[in-house]
Amino acid sequence: MIKAENLCMHYGPVQALQHVNFEVKKGEIIGLLGPNGAGKSTTLKIITTYIYPTEGTVYLDNIDVRENPIPVRQRIGYLPEQLPLYMDMEVREYLQFVGYSRGLSGAKLQERLDWVTKKCGLKSVFPKLIRELSKGYKQRTALAQALIHDPEIVILDEPTSGLDPHQIIEIRNLIKELATEKTIIFSTHILQEVEAITNRIIIINRGKIVANGSMAELENAMGYQQFQLVLPSAVALGDVKSAFQKLENIQGVEAGEAKNGEIAYSIRANASKEVRPQITQLIKEKKWDFLEVKKKPFTLEEIFLQLTEPENKHKGVNQ
Ligand code: ADP
Ligand code: MG
Repeated sequence: MIKAENLCMHYGPVQALQHVNFEVKKGEIIGLLGPNGAGKSTTLKIITTYIYPTEGTVYLDNIDVRENPIPVRQRIGYLPEQLPLYMDMEVREYLQFVGYSRGLSGAKLQERLDWVTKKCGLKSVFPKLIRELSKGYKQRTALAQALIHDPEIVILDEPTSGLDPHQIIEIRNLIKELATEKTIIFSTHILQEVEAITNRIIIINRGKIVANGSMAELENAMGYQQFQLVLPSAVALGDVKSAFQKLENIQGVEAGEAKNGEIAYSIRANASKEVRPQITQLIKEKKWDFLEVKKKPFTLEEIFLQLTEPENKHKGVNQ
């Protein structure tokens, strides 16, 4: 449905994107993940036709966004990083205005207004001036703007940034709900966020794609998975290490600092192996009074370290 082909973007001397290629199929939810300055917003701005790439292009079905931006815009709803709000308008007025400018009127406009108001939970703030809204409600109003014309594709640039944990969960749930009927691309710099919502992740770093695949494929490319085991600090480190060394598919154990009588161990295991039963079995055998064992998600730093090392490239997940 969406195909980015050899995208390059130079802002003067800054090379924000370098030969970026990826595809998005109808109905997918893609998490575009990368640190600040990676090129996420630039990529989304090109797809939504807000800026033109220096080189390469994006196709929406067979439409080239550079040659034919209007039909592309009609099919896309876009929540930019900087919210496109008019502070002196009331929420109702603003959404009506956006609806009109996207070609809606009469009963159809009313129907869409009702829909976005309900989905984005805006009823209580309808008569308020946008400037008076909290950050969370401003975000919801901007999201409603992106959805008012019922686009097939929804592009969200850091939709949860600046929100409190409660608001983050609300926005996540809304994205999940939208996912049943729309194609979604959203950017974030938080790995857990993409894990929670999507099953395909495109990781971008310094203008280049470093990984593109499901969480399982990413794990395979990393070459390991990791677990966290919290034990009382009375259990000797040597015991823990030697016990784990005897298990199959375990690559190593590292101890964190002792805190409040506990030590958190990080256990590295081979990728895609079911090692949890072995770990729990070992804990039982050793009669460790364990406090917690759980899968530990990768941090972005770990992923970058591993996937941007030259010898780790081309393990199947990189492009
Ligand atoms: P991200 O959204 O991943 O944080 P961006 O796409 O906003 O990254 O930016 C990528 C790079 O391009 C950064 O180095 C940023 O400073 C630079 N950049 C972005 N927009 C502009 C611009 N309008 N003019 C000059 N440099 C820009
Ligand atoms: Mg950005």
